[in-house]
Formats: sequence, C-alpha cells, structure tokens
Amino acid sequence: MKIIKTIEEMKERSGRLKRERKSIGLAPTMGALHEGHLSLVRKSVQSMDKTVASLFVNPAQFAPNEDFDSYPRDYDRDLDMFMREGVDIVFMPERNTVYPAEYKTYVEVHDLQEKLCGLTRPIFFRGVCTVVLKLFNIINPDTAFFGQKDAQQGIIIKRMVKDLNLDVRIKILPIVRDKDGLALSSRNAYLKNTQRQAALSLSRSLREAKIMVEKGEIRTEIITAQIKDIIEYCPEAKIDYVKIVDAENLDPLDIVRAGTLIALAVYVGKTRLIDNIIL
Ligand code: AMP
Repeated sequence: MKIIKTIEEMKERSGRLKRERKSIGLAPTMGALHEGHLSLVRKSVQSMDKTVASLFVNPAQFAPNEDFDSYPRDYDRDLDMFMREGVDIVFMPERNTVYPAEYKTYVEVHDLQEKLCGLTRPIFFRGVCTVVLKLFNIINPDTAFFGQKDAQQGIIIKRMVKDLNLDVRIKILPIVRDKDGLALSSRNAYLKNTQRQAALSLSRSLREAKIMVEKGEIRTEIITAQIKDIIEYCPEAKIDYVKIVDAENLDPLDIVRAGTLIALAVYVGKTRLIDNIIL
C-alpha cells in the first residue's frame, strides 16, 4: 500500500494508472474508520482495478463552533485497516496544500445545500462539495463510493456531478449498523454509556416508521409525530430535525410513496447524530 501526501505525486500516480487503462475507485473518508467506511473500500477493491482511499479531515466543512479540533484522529490505526482491506493508495494531503492561505474557490449546490442538515450547518455542503470536487480532479476516479448514512450528501454530490458534467460514477452503499441498530459513525466515540441508549432512539424510531408504513399509514404528519415521540421520550436526545422528503429534490411530502426518504438529526448531549431510511 502506497501512502501519498502530495497533490503532485497523487496526480502523477493516477495519470499513470489511467495510461495503463486501470479503473480507479475512490473512497473518501475523514478517518476514525469503522465498518461503514470499510464497506466502501471493500466494494471498491472488489469491483475496481485500483482503490484509492482518502484520509483528510476537511476543515472547510466544519463551522467555527463545530468539532474540527476534537474530531477523532488515529492515522496509524486507519492505515492499518486500509492495508488489511487491500487498498492500493492512501491519499492523505496536508491541510495547507489543499487550502493554501490564498485559497478562494468553493462549490455550492444551491437549494439542496440549504435543506435538512444545511439548516443547522449552513457551510457544511459547500465544504463537502469543494473537497470532493478537488479529490475528483486530483485522483480522477472512474467510480467514487459514498455511504447512504449521509443521504443528503449523496444526493448533493450526484447533483454536482451531473451539473458540472464530471466523468465519475457515484455509488451509494447501504448504512452499516451496530448489532443494536445504531448507525456506525466516527462521532459515536463521543457517546457515554447512557447517551448510547438515547442514541438508539434514532434507529428505533425509523424502524417504527417503516412498520407504520408497512401497516398502511401514509400520512407523513402522523409518521413524523410518532418518530418525534419516540426520540423525545429520551431526556438526553434533542431533535434537530425529522423530515420526510422526496429522495431527489428533498422537498417535503404529505404522503409517503416508494423511494421516500425519512431523514433525521438529533443531538445526544453535544454530539449531533444523523440517520435515515428509504421507504
Ligand atoms: P466520513 O469519514 O464520516 O466523512 O465518511 C466517509 C464516508 O463513509 C461517507 O461516504 C459516509 O457516508 C460513509 N459512511 C459513514 N458512516 C457510514 C455507515 N455507518 N454506513 C455506510 N457508510 C458510512
């Protein structure tokens, strides 16, 4: 496994792979790896000639009041995990080479970036899109792998790829959960014991919503109220949003239909957790 830290070397490497007609898969991550990340890497290793995993905690997607400084980092462990999965190249650039002091350019996907998570995290998706487009330009992947865990992110990246005519296929892979149902997240490391119990209300409420729909309930107002009840029952959980929306344009729906997205964000203590389900 090759570890590449400079943009020049990464471009040179991916250029060479292209000339050799090797297909390149990319799995972008911020590290603190778990099975969710590894599911992306595994899919790439299985289906592409070469797999690049990126490891970069992207400052542009954190607001000043958010957890950029305290975000969990354990690069030795991450590199070891990537190596075991058969990753060919880990791209881990330095912050000041990705965003030098004179940096000025950002990518925005209007409308979609303002909804759901964008309401509480107004600069988040612009930071994500900017770094993802930079990674695409530097690595030139044929396919990039993202997780359904970040549903809105996947929808926005697909939009950016279409709107900017990028030659990269976007694959969204299912949410990987712990045995108790909690969606894996690097931020779960922040949760203390009792908080983890409260965190389970996210997946529990989504499972309950799915059962309601299977039993015939289609009114989103009723389903939303039930989800909120389940979460609010936990004193440590504070709802940011619960939304039932169209899975392409993220517009709210009155009635659920096939492919509808239920997405939610909840604070457990100071930790903001997200989860979702597609019906
Ligand atoms: P992050 O390191 O949090 O930026 O996540 C990197 C990628 O891993 C993103 O595409 C996420 O959607 C994906 N991911 C994170 N958690 C999970 C999970 N529990 N299941 C599937 N994919 C995930």
